[in-house]
Amino acid sequence: MIDPKITIPSREPSASTADDTVMPFEVAKLDLRGRVVRLGHAVDQILARHAYPQPVARLLGEAVVLTVMLGSALKTEGRFILQTQSDGPVRMLVVDFTAPDKVRACARFDKDRVAAAISSGEAGGGPLLGKGHLAMTIDKGPDMNRYQGLVTLNGGSLEDVAQEYFFRSEQIPTRVRLAVAEELRAGSGGATHRWRAGGIMLQFLPRASKRARVADLNVGRAPDGREPHAVEEDDAWAEGQAMISTAEDIELIDPSLSSEQLVYRLFHEPGVRVFRASPLRAECSCSRDNVEAMLKSFSQDDRDHMVEDGKISVTCEFCSANYQFAPGDVEAKT
Ligand SMILES: [Zn+2]
Repeated sequence: MIDPKITIPSREPSASTADDTVMPFEVAKLDLRGRVVRLGHAVDQILARHAYPQPVARLLGEAVVLTVMLGSALKTEGRFILQTQSDGPVRMLVVDFTAPDKVRACARFDKDRVAAAISSGEAGGGPLLGKGHLAMTIDKGPDMNRYQGLVTLNGGSLEDVAQEYFFRSEQIPTRVRLAVAEELRAGSGGATHRWRAGGIMLQFLPRASKRARVADLNVGRAPDGREPHAVEEDDAWAEGQAMISTAEDIELIDPSLSSEQLVYRLFHEPGVRVFRASPLRAECSCSRDNVEAMLKSFSQDDRDHMVEDGKISVTCEFCSANYQFAPGDVEAKT
């Protein structure tokens, strides 16, 4: 392989903060790549709109960060959908990322069980989800195959689940940190609450073929009954994990610490290269046309059951937009 000796310009990390962005980075010396997600207005829009109980909002916020982190790898087009289905107080989380920059999310939960979890102090992400599975679907368009990866939910946090997913399905050693918090600001009309969220993902992707081969050999092998774990094998990955483990929740969401400053703080020793951050926004992809097409795909019987007061009314679970149709307008063409 040609290795042109390009001189990469270096500079101080920018102190300017940019909320609602994803910034990729690389620690070439240790073969690490990653992404920093920083969400302000976008996550506040999503969570404030739903007004879920606080622990549910927090969990959904984590899922939004994770989805944006993974979905932003799609670059130009396609959708990345993260969906949980489980037996805990939060039955379902859905986060839908449409490349390059749109995200929407909603949760379904059992009000009484969430209230009980809060009063018994068991309202962390793992207990709220309970047991079930998490599916990640990549949909690159109508002419492309959908790809779906599944990972078991077993009482662990979304961070644990993400790490497990990458290790099992892609054999990429991965560490993920997610943080969500409510920011309180004193104002003339009283204190205002705003949601903030952030996260960082670190992956070990050695380019040297020799090291890549070592990682491959570990797949599915458990010679002495232990779980195969490439992460214990490589010093560079051990170093990377030690560095990311020092990132505190507050640093992941702190509006006065930029994404560049965060990665510089964590990885200045081996050196870190940052790439252009891409913007994100909370926007629903529902439309009257889509809802109409969906209704037309139902059976006449199902549509008849939806008629109330002479009309069919559909409310989008993501953004609460309401669409109304006269029954005759959505009859399927024969
Ligand atoms: Zn909508």
